[in-house]
Amino acid sequence: MKRFLSPLLLLFAATTAAHAEDARKPVTILISIDGFRADYLDRGITPHLSKLAADGAHGALRPSFPTKTFPNHYAIVTGKRPDTNGITGNSMIDPRRPDVKFSLGDAKQSLDSFWWDEAEPAWVTANKAGVRTATMFWPGSEVAIHDVRPPDWLRYDEHVGYAQRVNTVLDWMRRPADIRPAFVTLYFEAVDDAGHGFGPDSAEVNAAISDVDARIGDLVAQLAAMAQPVQLVVVADHGMRAIDESRTIQLADIIDLPSIVAVETGPYAAIEPAAGTDNRVYEALLKPHDHMACNRRETLPERLHYGHNPRVAAIICIAEPGWSIIAGKPNWPVRGGAHGYDNQDPQMLALFVANGTGLSGNIGIVDNIEVYPLLMRLIGVAPLPSDASGSLVKRLAH
Ligand code: AMP
Ligand code: ZN
Ligand code: ZN
Repeated sequence: MKRFLSPLLLLFAATTAAHAEDARKPVTILISIDGFRADYLDRGITPHLSKLAADGAHGALRPSFPTKTFPNHYAIVTGKRPDTNGITGNSMIDPRRPDVKFSLGDAKQSLDSFWWDEAEPAWVTANKAGVRTATMFWPGSEVAIHDVRPPDWLRYDEHVGYAQRVNTVLDWMRRPADIRPAFVTLYFEAVDDAGHGFGPDSAEVNAAISDVDARIGDLVAQLAAMAQPVQLVVVADHGMRAIDESRTIQLADIIDLPSIVAVETGPYAAIEPAAGTDNRVYEALLKPHDHMACNRRETLPERLHYGHNPRVAAIICIAEPGWSIIAGKPNWPVRGGAHGYDNQDPQMLALFVANGTGLSGNIGIVDNIEVYPLLMRLIGVAPLPSDASGSLVKRLAH
């Protein structure tokens, strides 16, 4: 009898082990801490992130130009720079839809796949390949890009508390294996908000950094408690720089404002002549200016990889770091902090920390589009063609 049962028991044990293994396949979690400048990690106030960095890989991401939120979040998950991913700004106008403007706060446009379909984010490609995904916020994740939304996604709402965001991810991981995601995004905006409101060197920024760090600590601890293996990739979209009212460039001093449409103002300005091709606008703006350089989109420096997409405005002006371009009375406060400058500005560099099997070492500074091939490798899905060279994956291949 005993002899008869043993093989069955063995089989049972083997099946259970196989199930357990099945049940806890590694999950890749991509976390964005909006506006977390790379050097914030050296402030000594991030015990959890610093430990993840020390035990894993870390470095700095060079954002894509313009160093704004939507273009860079999309660059990270597509491997394409804003010029090729189609999200060329937080605000933009497409000549094929001349009467409307895309902007973060306008859901009618920002949730329309028309703006996003020029690239395919990692979660869409993963889903198509049979890898289940879930997004706890990420720009674009609310949109049916190439007709696909993540099976689990949430409409962006800044009022959703951070404990709730982390618990949502943990609840996903508690699901049965067949509906448990293998790729998850998680987003926090508090560090960016405090950076804008109070500047990068403020107590408010430090408090936000500590709070987000603690939430990430909770997430890691709870995943460990459920024996869930995880590949963590923590990024930011851009850095932050102090600005003030004494360093402004007033476009009204250069050109009468009714002659232009300022699609964006601030660290960079995207400007269209109001009346098609108005040479006066070009003549006035393309001259040399103090603290600002303007170019036709066709003649921007090659290193910016920007200006070929028709959504890029006719004239792009970039302020000297710390300066703000304004058009009349700005509808945003010129104080605290801002981003959007040239992506060579060291204060625009963004956080990179990765922790998981095979992820270790200081990666130095890499372009943020390089995160995409790393993500796809971690998820186990072939990356689509992109602007990335694969340099980060190479650096991490030990
Ligand atoms: P920025 O103007 O570049 O500093 O953008 C940062 C802001 O983008 C944050 O304060 C968020 O409130 C906002 N944001 C982040 N994700 C989303 C989203 N999925 N939909 C709309 N707004 C978002
Ligand atoms: Zn941002
Ligand atoms: Zn911001």
